Amino acid sequence: MEIGTGSRRTSMTRRAFLGVAAASAGAAVAASCEGTHVVNTAGGDLPVLAETGVLVVGGGPAGLAAAIGSAHAGADTLLVERYGFYGGVITQALMGSITWYRYAQTVDAGGVCAEIEARAKAMGGSINLLEVLEDPALTELFVSRAEAAGLVVDGKPTYEVLKTEMFKAVADSLVVDAGVTPLLHCSVVGVLKDGNTIRGVITESKSGRQVILAKRVIDATGDADVAALSGAPFTQAPKSELMEVSTNFSVSNVDLGTFVTYVAMQNRTMADWVTEDCGKEKNGFSTHVFQAFQEAAEAGEIPSDVVIKAFPGGFTPGGSVLSLNAVHQYGIDPTSVWDLTGAEIEGRRRVLMAMDVLRKRVPGFENAELSTIGASIGCRESRKIQGEYQITGDDVRNQARFEDSIGIFPEFLDAYGILCLPTTGRYFHVPYRITVPQGVENLLVAGRCVSGDRVSYAATRQMGCCMVTGQGAGVAAALSLQQNRTCRQIDVGMLQAALVAQGVRIV
Ligand SMILES: Cc1cc2nc3c(=O)[nH]c(=O)nc-3n(C[C@H](O)[C@H](O)[C@H](O)COP(=O)(O)OP(=O)(O)OC[C@H]3O[C@@H](n4cnc5c(N)ncnc54)[C@H](O)[C@@H]3O)c2cc1C
Repeated sequence: MEIGTGSRRTSMTRRAFLGVAAASAGAAVAASCEGTHVVNTAGGDLPVLAETGVLVVGGGPAGLAAAIGSAHAGADTLLVERYGFYGGVITQALMGSITWYRYAQTVDAGGVCAEIEARAKAMGGSINLLEVLEDPALTELFVSRAEAAGLVVDGKPTYEVLKTEMFKAVADSLVVDAGVTPLLHCSVVGVLKDGNTIRGVITESKSGRQVILAKRVIDATGDADVAALSGAPFTQAPKSELMEVSTNFSVSNVDLGTFVTYVAMQNRTMADWVTEDCGKEKNGFSTHVFQAFQEAAEAGEIPSDVVIKAFPGGFTPGGSVLSLNAVHQYGIDPTSVWDLTGAEIEGRRRVLMAMDVLRKRVPGFENAELSTIGASIGCRESRKIQGEYQITGDDVRNQARFEDSIGIFPEFLDAYGILCLPTTGRYFHVPYRITVPQGVENLLVAGRCVSGDRVSYAATRQMGCCMVTGQGAGVAAALSLQQNRTCRQIDVGMLQAALVAQGVRIV
């Protein structure tokens, strides 16, 4: 460790606080240390923190579904999460729009996703925009715009938004009620393997460096951390091609009536951010706030290279906007701690810029107050494993059918400027094999890091699909224990029967 990193870190931090682009400062330090290694002399035995049948690593949408599915299937299940709460992008980056894709014709898999929605509603943890708007004229205006876009059925929006702070408690209740053992504030930093078979993980927490022994492990870290540590093959695009990261924030003291009227009257369409659609999306109404930031850039109020496009998600009657998915940065590698550090600091600096523009240029925001900045930047894309099957763009666009389906997902694509909304009832099967990594036994991977090509990622990264792969992997892990077979060799018919018994639509 005698390589002087401490003093270099201090100077980087100072530069970041002085407003110098933190990412480039971090990159400079990283470059100067590139290829440097030190001998690990720590060695020694590690204490066992826990032993379990199924270990799920990461408590986002995929990990929650995996753990709940595994426990419902009867396995002794432990869910480990590096932060102090579950929810992943939902709670860390304030993204409650788990089903914004839903239209009258849309079909879903149900399962844990439906369970989560029902529990959130029962606990007052979700919100429906039309129930918030008190002015009938305003409701009518908004509904007419939304109806034209097919977003309203029988006078009701087709989806509800999760209240993301509440969701921390909703997730706790789901985990505890399912009989999953929760473990928070604990990061997985290594794996234990016997040949090609995973036997557990190495953790770091306030309790020190320890070991969790597990018969089956599910990697739901979003970044495929466990798979990468296990030596399973994966791909990751160069960071110049990765999707953007976002610093999301919430705002209070908004005059909601004025703001919603502004959103409805500006009548923006998805063509502002969609480059390729399925022949019907580009002209659809979109609630995003775009022009105010464009005008601010033209007026020199924000630098031209700062990307701010605000997608508001969820309102409360008291005048809070629960999420503004607005501040976006490109060229960030979510597996580089220097990039993450730079993006966090720069993102928060840009949130303050966005607040200034909102107050000055967006009706209803004149007296707005910043409430919360997400606990972490939201990362959209990093590693993807190479699995037993790689799902493709053709599969998700052409209603693929698979013998090893673990659930369905609607024809909903949203990434890289591609938008296809499931207004038609079309859907594809999600194959079990995309969760099974090559080369390592008894490890499954769920969520956004499953095996697939670039275009299919526009569908598999969606939270609803992450819950399909999560629940599929969770139940598969539990069954593989009961069948005394590896995850690769389980009886898929029995897996499908168990998923159907849990309320999952698989065909
Ligand atoms: C800003 C933004 C907006 C989005 N908007 C939408 C939207 O509107 N609708 C939609 O459906 N999708 C949306 N997405 C995509 C979607 O949120 C993600 O693809 C999805 O959350 C991925 O789920 P996951 O469970 O795989 O990963 P995550 O949600 O990232 O959860 C991974 C969890 O694992 C934990 N973890 C990671 N590494 C470790 C480790 N080593 N040890 C222990 N724990 C670990 C993390 O803390 C986290 O809780 C958005 C994404 C972003 C970033």
